Amino acid sequence: MTLKLYDEPMSMPPYTVMCYTAGCPNLAAFKVAARWNDGLTQELKTYFLSCAACVPQLYPLAVAKRAACHLGPGESLDAPGVYELHRGDRDKQLKRRPELEKK
Ligand SMILES: [Zn+2]
Repeated sequence: MTLKLYDEPMSMPPYTVMCYTAGCPNLAAFKVAARWNDGLTQELKTYFLSCAACVPQLYPLAVAKRAACHLGPGESLDAPGVYELHRGDRDKQLKRRPELEKK
């Protein structure tokens, strides 16, 4: 029995995410998300990942989704924000882009 050794690159392949818009061929560059809080924990609730071109059409959808979200007692959900998406970054390091948050 022999073991076949594959010549694998040491580095991981780049982690890429596509824009959420159906048929859009671009990579996502922004995250449309809202901060959710129940008084104990807070997290960033992601609605969409979007390329720069699709933010204007995806952001209003996130606003509509947020408006339709029913919150339990003590829960709060901020208005959706547009955040720059950087590979490997944690949510806390995301840079918000308020100028892109237009309805
Ligand atoms: Zn797109």
